[in-house]
Amino acid sequence: MSAKRMNFIFNEQGQVLALYKDTDIQDYSDRICHLNFRTANHSATFQSDHFYTMLKRYGKLELSTVIDQQIWSGSLVFICSVSGDVPAEQMLLTLHGVSGQITKETYHSVLPLSPSATYHLDLKLSTIQNISPNVAILTGFSPEIIQGQADWWMKQIHPEDKSKYLSHIEACCECRDDHFYGTEYRFCNFQGDYIWLADRARVMFDPESQEPVGLVGCLIDISEIMKLYNQLVSLTAVAPGMIYQYEHTSDGQISFSYMSPQVQTLFGKTADEIKNDIKQLFNAVHPADRKRLYRSIIKAEKGQKEWKCEFRVLNHGEVRWLYGHSVPVNMNHFRQVWSGLLIDISDKKSLEFKLKRESTTDPLTGLFNRRYFMNMLEETFDGGVKQLPVSILAVDFDHFKQINDQYGHDVGDQVLRQVATGMKQNLRKTDTLARVGGEEFSVILPATHYKDALRIGEKLRHYVETMVISYQDFNINITITVGVASSDGHLAQKELLIRADRALYQGKSSGRNRVM
Ligand code: GH3
Ligand code: MG
Ligand code: MG
Repeated sequence: MSAKRMNFIFNEQGQVLALYKDTDIQDYSDRICHLNFRTANHSATFQSDHFYTMLKRYGKLELSTVIDQQIWSGSLVFICSVSGDVPAEQMLLTLHGVSGQITKETYHSVLPLSPSATYHLDLKLSTIQNISPNVAILTGFSPEIIQGQADWWMKQIHPEDKSKYLSHIEACCECRDDHFYGTEYRFCNFQGDYIWLADRARVMFDPESQEPVGLVGCLIDISEIMKLYNQLVSLTAVAPGMIYQYEHTSDGQISFSYMSPQVQTLFGKTADEIKNDIKQLFNAVHPADRKRLYRSIIKAEKGQKEWKCEFRVLNHGEVRWLYGHSVPVNMNHFRQVWSGLLIDISDKKSLEFKLKRESTTDPLTGLFNRRYFMNMLEETFDGGVKQLPVSILAVDFDHFKQINDQYGHDVGDQVLRQVATGMKQNLRKTDTLARVGGEEFSVILPATHYKDALRIGEKLRHYVETMVISYQDFNINITITVGVASSDGHLAQKELLIRADRALYQGKSSGRNRVM
């Protein structure tokens, strides 16, 4: 055994650009025109002009080839090189010589070790005419039992998979070129257990009539893969949401290589429907959340860190909140693969909104409370020049104790409610009216000068003074005193509040029912 090694560099078209070995490039370049490759569930031969597409699909290929009757094995990977100033994708093939000269005997001696069996099926007689001995390793049946028995193979196939198998044979027969067709089915082995077989076949034609006369094919036991697949299916069925695998290639292609069936609950579409037109998934995202969602994905892809995002989707007109969490599982220059979970958090979200609403709302009047007012004032100050100057109004009901004493506390409450609603209607949408104490209210007037604030205060005062509150047989009149203060940004929030209170106090002491 010799420890030989060769490195080839290919361009996108599969042409050899360089060969690192003490050999003239011409010696080998035209011989690397096909490679046998295998991945977890595929094995095939492909031509050099397909190297690029195959590599794009699988990221890395483990492969073998024969040069001058010697077996070479190795891997094909993408590398990035710079031609001129432009980074270019190239492929690097590294091959190690794994054996000496192959003789017919050595070649046949390794055949029984192959995990696959090859066969020839006669379509007219419906019999397998020839099958390689390793079918016994796969199924427990020797070739002698199988060969020449009409419909024997079909009888061993699981009843639920028979029609799929027949459709596969039909598809093979309709094919007019060298194409291989594949299917998977359950097959009853010698012990009476079902194993999963992958069957890849190509049709043979009668040279004269051009009629399909037979199939040559290859069988592989994929029971382990199917076991893992079924485990995945059963685990995803109990997952609290949709499990998926998402791929993004450097040429901008986006695809979902896996989506669990819960996709239908979340998006109202099946995985197949979405795979055919992936835009549907992004179109389902609430327009108001799209930008934020895209930004979060781009940020995660750039940083190659986990992605987390809460966003809304529209499913048959209904708005649902989703939480997405994914992690990068395979990254290279050309392809990013992410595994993730999407769960419906609508119930959690509505509870969150309810709690937030309750924590910022005054239950008696339905206006905002002091906590909200203070936060909003801070936000207004942080909002920059657009919000300045900021004015505030401090409102206190005049002689409100007397209302309670005269009509009772319930009537007092009713008065508070009606006046609060009326004042709100007399303010702009951008203003914030809050109940900050028993019968004390405050208003934030963003982008409002002191003079305009005085005018707005007067409008409220006049409105309340002329308002007649009817309760049972009573007509109740009430007045308010308003303190006004403004800041163009130089006055701190605390100072602004103190000034408004001071103005209110002055209004009270100078006779009430006025704006100061
Ligand atoms: P002034 O003109 O000086 O403000 O007189 P006032 O009677 O309004 O006096 P003050 O502001 O000190 O008292 C407020 C009163 O408002 C005390 C309390 O009985 C009443 N009050 C406070 N909260 C409520 C409430 O939620 N419902 C009712 N009905 N009354 C309230
Ligand atoms: Mg009062
Ligand atoms: Mg008061």
